[in-house]
Amino acid sequence: MNLQLNITPIEKWLPGYKKPVIISGPCSAETERQLLSTAEELAETGIVHLFRAGIWKPRTRPNSFNGVGEKGLGWLRTVKEETGLLVTTEVANQKHVELCLKYGIDVLWIGARTSANPFSVQEIADVLKGTDIPVLVKNPVNPDLELWIGALERINEAGITKIAAVHRGFSSFEKTPFRNTPMWEIPIELKTICPALPVICDPSHIAGSRELIPMISQKAIDLDMNGLMIESHINPKTALSDSSQQITPLQLFKIIDKLIIRESKIRNKTFEDQLEQLRNVIDELDEEVIQNLSVRMDIAERIGEYKKENGVTILQIKRWDEIANKRLNMGLAMGLSEEFIKSLLQLIHKESIMRQTLVMNTPIEKAAITETGGAI
Ligand code: PEP
Ligand code: MN
Repeated sequence: MNLQLNITPIEKWLPGYKKPVIISGPCSAETERQLLSTAEELAETGIVHLFRAGIWKPRTRPNSFNGVGEKGLGWLRTVKEETGLLVTTEVANQKHVELCLKYGIDVLWIGARTSANPFSVQEIADVLKGTDIPVLVKNPVNPDLELWIGALERINEAGITKIAAVHRGFSSFEKTPFRNTPMWEIPIELKTICPALPVICDPSHIAGSRELIPMISQKAIDLDMNGLMIESHINPKTALSDSSQQITPLQLFKIIDKLIIRESKIRNKTFEDQLEQLRNVIDELDEEVIQNLSVRMDIAERIGEYKKENGVTILQIKRWDEIANKRLNMGLAMGLSEEFIKSLLQLIHKESIMRQTLVMNTPIEKAAITETGGAI
């Protein structure tokens, strides 16, 4: 996957930029008083770079609180005048963008439901042409990196170079302790293919509950993310949306204060040498793992040929069950986690079956199987 974006470094457009960037404020603007008092307390902490509040709320069910609409933009303007904080809100269509520009909102963000829809992102991109307002693009609700990249590209192609990605987790069928599963490998991949793109984590929407926010924030910082977007409310229990995940400005201050910020650059020579040695060992081990996997797959293919000659099915459930249990117990005894061994074994099994299937197929069928990664 590749991604070429024309990016203005965040330190050039976000005054006072320092890692981690802290974006905070309520899920929703509810009243002018709630907004102002939250903003005043946040400003007092001295750690907030950008004040957030949703004005138009994308709610799952139609009869929930849908946001205060345009009047909230006036309140945000007051927040800016009275506290000096820069302000940001969510936009989902052309009208939202036009109104935000009219009211002098400093930064826009595109929410997770909107970034999943290329029509909406394009509509927003079209109306942004000719402006240079910074835009934050949240990941789409579904775990699809291409879709996230596509949204970033559409905004960038409209001439917006002040951009950042926001990782807010992904919806999943599986029951997990999170409201939205983090799937850290997705933002890591995004950072890998586009190192210049700032990535900000939104622990509030990943967590869904305030208790998990410190842990997720620390993890994001350990992964060298550029900042955190955390929802805060003057009185979280009374919040009209996302009440269980909001914290007070004071709680925000305490969480950020306790974060352990590690250096991303290596400065100490001895440490550097030792790290280098350990990395060399890892490189060798990884090479061995790959060589062994390659030999293993060649043998699986030979077994496939024997099965073909003898008219035996590829899938031998009993044998696979035995292997899986034996390997699982071995891995557990050697300190590997159950989830890790199970997913690794599943991958290996899938690849083996694909290699054995290939033996039984014509060239056209083989191409279809390889292209879909064995999905058919
Ligand atoms: C929000 O930030 O309040 C919000 C609606 O977020 P998301 O788009 O990530 O669900
Ligand atoms: Mn919210």
